[in-house]
Amino acid sequence: MKIALVGIGKIAIDQHVPAIAASKDWELAATVSRKGSVPGVEAFTDFAAFLAARPDVPVVSLCMPPVPRYPYAEAALLAGRHVMLEKPPGATLAEVHALSALAAERGLTLYTTWHSRMAQAVAAAKAWLAGTTIRKAHITWREDVRKWHPGQDWVFEPGGMGVFDPGINALSILTEILPKPVHLTAATLTFPENCQTPIAAALTFTGQVTADFDWRQEGPQTWDIDVETDKGSLALRMGGNRLVIDGREVAGENSIMGEYPALYSRMATLVAHGQSEVDLAPMTHVADALTLGRRETAPPFFL
Ligand code: NAP
Repeated sequence: MKIALVGIGKIAIDQHVPAIAASKDWELAATVSRKGSVPGVEAFTDFAAFLAARPDVPVVSLCMPPVPRYPYAEAALLAGRHVMLEKPPGATLAEVHALSALAAERGLTLYTTWHSRMAQAVAAAKAWLAGTTIRKAHITWREDVRKWHPGQDWVFEPGGMGVFDPGINALSILTEILPKPVHLTAATLTFPENCQTPIAAALTFTGQVTADFDWRQEGPQTWDIDVETDKGSLALRMGGNRLVIDGREVAGENSIMGEYPALYSRMATLVAHGQSEVDLAPMTHVADALTLGRRETAPPFFL
């Protein structure tokens, strides 16, 4: 099936282009980006021009940041194209509800992807936790924003979500693996004086679940989830890619390279079956944190 990639930036080049190139399901037929392109692929700079010129491309994958994404997704659905959304799926929850209703009305596929759910050890962790009683759980998600988002000022602008841009990956795993849903009860959010979004967040959920997100960690990076249950302890390391049960490593590897191929495989299945997959649980926790959070101010921060 032909697919177009829209918003050729860091994640499109790092993950989407190689995943599509390696897939038996997909052919990259066009790109749409104001500056970016992919060698050998027809490049458009205007989305309306692409939609008019390439009715033969039935699927678009939107890789730009969340704030500018909605008009592209709406135009694609109105033009009869199936749509795959990078995480987070929108700038607001209401936007995604509107897209979901439009896709359903038109009989099109909408897929809100959560790449971290496709990490190597997430399915095994979910299976192990099924039927257990969770005593407590803690997420530690600490990374260096300057390393992973060089020059991406949008992360500190309204709708950029700040530290929740990576933190939502942890929440996408949490909402996938816990046998029972939890909800947020308190949050402390740290905003640099010059930023519109938080650079750190401490979250408390029901069920003794807590999270610590920080974007100021230099040196080794930490993407860990630790869960204590009536059956023993489970730890996910490396962003859900390694699984440790009662201190013993049982599954996974350090690579994240399987996540995007798995997303494209899932999109192929959804389109083939005329289905959508829209899950807003991770983003609901972020919206709740931004609603309930107590604000602390930190010194100015520059990327
Ligand atoms: P990025 O490189 O800053 O932006 C991607 C591309 O989107 C840009 O190259 C730009 O292409 C286009 N774009 C930016 N602002 C736009 C606007 N106002 N209107 C239209 N197009 C615009 O961002 P990214 O790191 O790839 O992240 C994009 C999305 O992927 C985010 O939702 C992020 O959470 C997610 N993601 C990122 C990573 C990562 O490691 N960076 C990992 C997983 C997921 P043109 O200027 O050529 O139009």
